[in-house]
Amino acid sequence: MRLLLALLASAVALTAQTTAFGTKVTEATPAAPAAAPAAPAAGTATTPGTKAAAKATEDEVDNSVVITPFRSLTPPEAKTSRTFQLSKVNKLGFTETSKELQRLYSAFATQRIVDGSPSGSSKATGYLATVNYTLVQDLGDNRFLAKAAWPASGPNEVLAAGADTMAILLLDKPAKVGDSGRITGMHVGTVALLFTANFPPLTGKRLTLRREAFVECATLEDTPAGLQKFVESVNAGAEMTVTTNEQVTCKKCGGLGFTREAQKGQLLDKRVPCAECASSGKVIVSVETKFAP
Ligand SMILES: [Zn+2]
Repeated sequence: MRLLLALLASAVALTAQTTAFGTKVTEATPAAPAAAPAAPAAGTATTPGTKAAAKATEDEVDNSVVITPFRSLTPPEAKTSRTFQLSKVNKLGFTETSKELQRLYSAFATQRIVDGSPSGSSKATGYLATVNYTLVQDLGDNRFLAKAAWPASGPNEVLAAGADTMAILLLDKPAKVGDSGRITGMHVGTVALLFTANFPPLTGKRLTLRREAFVECATLEDTPAGLQKFVESVNAGAEMTVTTNEQVTCKKCGGLGFTREAQKGQLLDKRVPCAECASSGKVIVSVETKFAP
C-alpha cells in the first residue's frame, strides 16, 4: 500500500524543471506557461484557439507531472467493538448465526486487498469503492486523470460519492486515453496534481488540480471457499476484524425516540423528541467485530 502510494505520488520525469508552479493554491487555476527561453519542442501540435494555448506552444512546454499528497484520508474508526465467536455459531441462546457470519465475511472480503504478503491479503487502509471511469489524460507510469463516478463509502460517508468527477487513478495495467472501465479502487486521499493539460478547453495550460486518488486493487474473494479459508485461519489463531455500520438502539433515549422531562405541577412528564436519533430510537454506528475461535 505504501509502495503503491509512493508510486502514485512520484514524479514521472527526472527532468522536471524547478519552477514556482507548485505555489499555486487555487483549484484549477491555470499557472503561467513555462518561461524557458528554449526553442519550441519538435512535433508539438499547435492548437488554434485561445491565446494561452498558442503561447504555451511557442514556449517550451513543461510536460512534467508532479503528484503530491494533499489531504490524507481519514482512517476508518470504529465507535464500538464486539466479538464474534465461531464456536457459538447457530447454537441456541447465542446471537452468532451462519447468516451473520456470511454477512460479516462479505464485508471483510471487501476490506482486504490481495497482495503478496504471506497471508495473501492485507487490510485496506483506505475505503474501497467501485470506480467507473473514462480516461482523460495519461500521466505516465499507469497514472491517469479520469472522469469518474463512485458511490459514497465509509462510516458517515467519509468518502463522498463522485459523479462525473475528475479523479486520479493508478491502474494495474497500461491503458490509453479514451478507455472506459470499472475498477475496485482503494481511496488514498486527495492529491495535488501539477501537470500540463492536453484536453480541451485547457490544452497546453499548466495546472494544479486537487483530486481524490484511487489505486486499483483486488479484494478477497467472497465465495464459500473464501469463507471456509477465513474460518480455518481464525480457528488457527489469526486475528481478524471487520468494521461495519450497524443499527443499534439509541443510548440517549433507550430506543424510545424521546426523553421525559418532569413538569412542575403536572402529573405527566413532557416528552422531548430525541435529537440523537431524530426520534427513531435507532442510531447507526460503526462497529469493529473481532473474530474468535
Ligand atoms: Zn434517541
